[in-house]
Amino acid sequence: MTDPIRLAAEALAAGELILLPTETVYGLGADAATPEAVAKVFEAKGRPRFNPLIAHVADAAQAERIAVFDPSARRLAETFWPGPLTLVLPARADAGVCDLARAGLDSVAVRVPGHAKARAVIAAFGGAVVAPSANRSGRPSPTTFADAFEETGHAVAEAIDGGPCAVGLESTVVSVMDGRPALLRPGAVTREEIEALAGPLSGAGEGRRSPGRLALHYAPDAPVRIDAEAAGEGEILLGFGPGVGDPRWSLSETGDLREAAANLFRRLREADRERPAGIAVAPVPGEGLGEAINDRLRRAAGFVG
Ligand code: AMP
Ligand code: MG
Repeated sequence: MTDPIRLAAEALAAGELILLPTETVYGLGADAATPEAVAKVFEAKGRPRFNPLIAHVADAAQAERIAVFDPSARRLAETFWPGPLTLVLPARADAGVCDLARAGLDSVAVRVPGHAKARAVIAAFGGAVVAPSANRSGRPSPTTFADAFEETGHAVAEAIDGGPCAVGLESTVVSVMDGRPALLRPGAVTREEIEALAGPLSGAGEGRRSPGRLALHYAPDAPVRIDAEAAGEGEILLGFGPGVGDPRWSLSETGDLREAAANLFRRLREADRERPAGIAVAPVPGEGLGEAINDRLRRAAGFVG
């Protein structure tokens, strides 16, 4: 049988790793229930074990078997799934997401991905699938099949090509642990979109509850300088908006945040291949998707969030 979806599901069942396309970034997938399989993910990425993984499921019914949803969590799921929103919720005792995947916490992060191939693999497998970005820890996330394969292709048994990632930025992480939603990580679903539905998000200090917010993250080899007005000696300038820098390196020539999000990691990776003295990035506005773009840029530049 050569159906790639079936082969990927079989690899998961055998405790192997796969490359899984999602609409956000390429994921390194493993069976969420099996500690030996999950351990391979941490090892292949070089990811610290205190940083828990997201359990990807095929639909909301599967998510409800893993986590406890209150009415506001359910409303968020109904509005944004399938799609780039991760909910951190109380884990059910029989969750099917092992302790290692949850880093020993009593909560669990769940998401229904928007990419049809991701949902098809998960449905064919039948259980939850952990799938952090397929890069080695600390590096920019891969948003094309080639980039994913370059990062962790050596560690996988199967790899699914789902084309370039449409969104290009990781999911927004929102916890709904005690009624009040809190933003743990800005992402592809904007704060404004969530607040329109759920009311004001608490956020200050909540970052501490998300163990994965390492300071230096998403970083290429070249040093990254943000809010740059122009390229310095030997630097490549990633522009934003009309007439800023070389169009070839622009995040979006028209100043479109959606396009800039889709281009961000790809441009960082492409620029890094030129071995520049540094990568300078033009200012990107902070509202809407700009919040997540600036979050990733600050971390790539080495600032603590
Ligand atoms: P990644 O898989 O690298 O995109 O990251 C998943 C993000 O979700 C990280 O920032 C984790 O720290 C966060 N996360 C996953 N599970 C939990 C949890 N149970 N509680 C809080 N944050 C979580
Ligand atoms: Mg990641």
